[in-house]
Amino acid sequence: MALRIHAIQTGTVAVKTAHKKLRGPAATRWASILLDPSYTEPLPILTWAVEHPEGVILIDTGESAAATRPEHFACDPAYSFLMRAGLLKLAVRPEEEVGPQLRARGVEPEDVRRVVLTHLHLDHADGLAAFPNAELIVSRREFEGQRRQPRGALACRWPSWFAPRLIDYRPEPLGPFEFSLPLTEGGDVSLVPTPGHSHGHQSVILRHGGLSYFFAGDASFDEQQMLRAEVAGICHDVGEARRSLRLIRRYASVEPTVYLPSHDPASGARLARNTTVTVPPGEKQVSGLQTEGAR
Ligand SMILES: [Zn+2]
Repeated sequence: MALRIHAIQTGTVAVKTAHKKLRGPAATRWASILLDPSYTEPLPILTWAVEHPEGVILIDTGESAAATRPEHFACDPAYSFLMRAGLLKLAVRPEEEVGPQLRARGVEPEDVRRVVLTHLHLDHADGLAAFPNAELIVSRREFEGQRRQPRGALACRWPSWFAPRLIDYRPEPLGPFEFSLPLTEGGDVSLVPTPGHSHGHQSVILRHGGLSYFFAGDASFDEQQMLRAEVAGICHDVGEARRSLRLIRRYASVEPTVYLPSHDPASGARLARNTTVTVPPGEKQVSGLQTEGAR
């Protein structure tokens, strides 16, 4: 079976501009976001399906049409408040959910072998219900962190059977990443920790045909933000988010990398054309990795 990668857009989300880009000190970011009257353009909510010889791997499950209705949030009063305050503007039609879109591409959701969640924010996990048969994969830090201190996850909408395999990375370096975990037996798909955006955010690297496809989740909203090491306003840990972005830049400075964040309007075109990211020279010198890594 030839390897194929599908970009699947499950509707759009518009966020406050102060949500996309941190304004002012991190301590006041929530006030900045909620008081900000301006929104981004509607951004894609992307998931990725890899038709792999070892079985289909889905990366994130996208958003559901139900989330466009206020009742979806009624089970979580804090989230309900944030949505009433205009945190997100979601637009998802039922036919845009990941299940119908997989079927349209000839992949039955029941046949998906593994679902890797980059993190548990609702626009990555709300499509879980379509995959009761798959092995669901989340970093231990993300799962336990979101249960202890929910940040952007809508746990009351997780399916009752949601009991993911929790990932602990191994001390196996992958480029500048000190820790990683091979996902496939062939070793061509690996998970790397890219925390900061959420408790235990992770990214997926698929190495194929001399390229690295870097499924970055929400490590950055788009490629430019990664290149500028610009942290988003919604960010669990600003220092970790900056460090993760620098590791990604270092990875992409030595490996030809197609960078695929979940909300970048250009991600689909980059995948279709195998467009690799160009990291400005001098990244290794300016990254300050050793200092930050020692913290
Ligand atoms: Zn997120």
